[in-house]
Amino acid sequence: SSAGKINCMECHTTAKEGDTLGAISIEMSMDGSKNAGIQTVINTAFIALAVMITIFLFINYLISPFLTIFDSIKKVMSKAQDGNYTYRIENAKGKEAKDVANWINGLLDKIKNTLDSIEEKISIFVTDDNRDEKDHLINVKNTVARLSDVYKFRKTIEYDKNLDKVYERLARVLEETLGIKNFNFFEADTINDSVKLVYSSNDYCCNVVENGCRADRTNSIVDSCQFKDICSSSEASCDYLCVPYSISNDLDFIVSIVAEDKSELHKIKEFLPSIQDYIDTAKPEIVSKKLMSILEVSARTDALTGLFNRKYLEESIDKIVSQAKRTDISYGILMADIDFFKMVNDTYGHDIGDEAIKVIARTLVENTRDSDIVIRYGGEEFVVLLYNCDEKYIQEVAEKIRVAFSKKTIPVGNSSITKTISIGASLFPAHTESFWQCLKYSDIALYEAKDSGRNK
Ligand code: GH3
Ligand code: MG
Ligand code: MG
Repeated sequence: SSAGKINCMECHTTAKEGDTLGAISIEMSMDGSKNAGIQTVINTAFIALAVMITIFLFINYLISPFLTIFDSIKKVMSKAQDGNYTYRIENAKGKEAKDVANWINGLLDKIKNTLDSIEEKISIFVTDDNRDEKDHLINVKNTVARLSDVYKFRKTIEYDKNLDKVYERLARVLEETLGIKNFNFFEADTINDSVKLVYSSNDYCCNVVENGCRADRTNSIVDSCQFKDICSSSEASCDYLCVPYSISNDLDFIVSIVAEDKSELHKIKEFLPSIQDYIDTAKPEIVSKKLMSILEVSARTDALTGLFNRKYLEESIDKIVSQAKRTDISYGILMADIDFFKMVNDTYGHDIGDEAIKVIARTLVENTRDSDIVIRYGGEEFVVLLYNCDEKYIQEVAEKIRVAFSKKTIPVGNSSITKTISIGASLFPAHTESFWQCLKYSDIALYEAKDSGRNK
C-alpha cells in the first residue's frame, strides 16, 4: 500500500498496489494497552462517580432544608391535628425554609394564644366539662355552643311569666338537650326546713315530703351507685342521682334523676357540669321570680289575719266562676260584719280592735272547710265562699259561725269581752248569674240583719 505513514510502493516498485508479496509474523505484548484501557475505564468511572457524588451532594445541599422542614412540618401538623398546638418547627435552614417555618410557627402561636385566651375567658361562664376532647379547638367550639345554648335559655326565662315556667323550661333542657327522661325538681326552704316538689317528669317522684331530702340535708350529691338504698325517700330498686344547688340563703334547688341502670346513671353524671351551667344561669331569675311570687302572695294576703284580701277575690273570681259554671257547682256567699265594732276601738283602743278581728278570722276558718275561701273584704267585714252547697247548708254554716263567735272571748287586759256578728247570705249562681250582684245580695241581707237587731 502506498497509503499510511510508510509508503511500501516506494521500494516495491514492481509490485502493484494491493499485491501480496509475503507474510510477516509479529509477536508482541498487549498488556500495556490493556492496562492502559482498564486504567482509562477506572479513571472514567471514578470521575463519573465523583461527578455524580458532587451532583448528588449539590442537589442534597439544595433540597435538604426543604426535606428537613417538610419532616418537621409533618410532625408539628400531626400534633396540631390531634389538638396539640404547642409543637414548633425547629432547625430550619436556608432563607426559604426559615420563612416557611416562621409563618407556620407564627400561625400556630396565634392559634394557641387565641384558644388559650378564649378558654380562659369562657371558663368563667361554663363549668369544666370532663367529657371534653383533648383538642382545644373542638373544646372551644363545644364550649361556645354550650355557652350559646345557655345564653338563649337565660334570655328566654327572663321573659317567662313565673317560676313554674322557668322550671318547665329547665325540664325541656334536661329532656331534649341532655336526653334525661326521669327527674324531679325540688325546692328546699332552708329556713323552715321544708322540701316541696316543683316539677316531675313522667310521674317520677320520691317521698321527700315525708322522709326529707338527703341531698339537701347533707348538701352533697346523693348517688345510689355508691350505696344502694342510700336515701330512704327513694325507691330501693332505683338507680338515682340527687344533686343540691344553692340558689339563695334560704332556698336550695334539688335535681333528682332516676336512671334505668347504672350505665345510664354514669352517662348522666357527665351532664352534671351542663346542668350546673343552666342552674347557675337561672339562679337570678329563680330568686327574682320567687320574690315576685312571695310579693304576689303577700299582695293578696291580709297581714293581720293571714286571710285572702279583696284583691285576691277580684283577681281570682273569674276563674272561680267559670269553674263553678263548668262543673255546675254552687257557691254560698256569706258576708259577715262585727256588730258595733267601732265601740271596741273607741272604748279599748285599736289594738284590742285588731285582736277582735283576729278572733273573728279564726272563727271563720275553724267553722269552714279547706275547700271554702275566707276573705277579709274590708275593715271588719268578711266574705266566705262556701264551696258546693245549697241554701240549707249556707244557713247552717252561717248560724254555726254566728254562735261560735258570740262565745269567743276577746282579751282586754285582765278581763275579756265578747262580741257578736251579723251575716248576710246568697247562693251563686242560683240567685243571680253575676257574682258581684250575688255578693251585693249578701250585703243587702247583712244590712237587713243589722237593721232588724244584729247578731243574726
Ligand atoms: P255595725 O254594727 O253597724 O257594723 O257597727 P260598727 O261600729 O261595726 O260599724 P262599722 O262596721 O261601720 O265599723 C267599722 C269600724 O271598723 C270602723 C273602723 O274604725 C274599724 N276598723 C276597720 N278596720 C280596722 C282594723 O284593721 N283594726 C281596727 N282596730 N279597727 C278597724
Ligand atoms: Mg260592723
Ligand atoms: Mg263594717
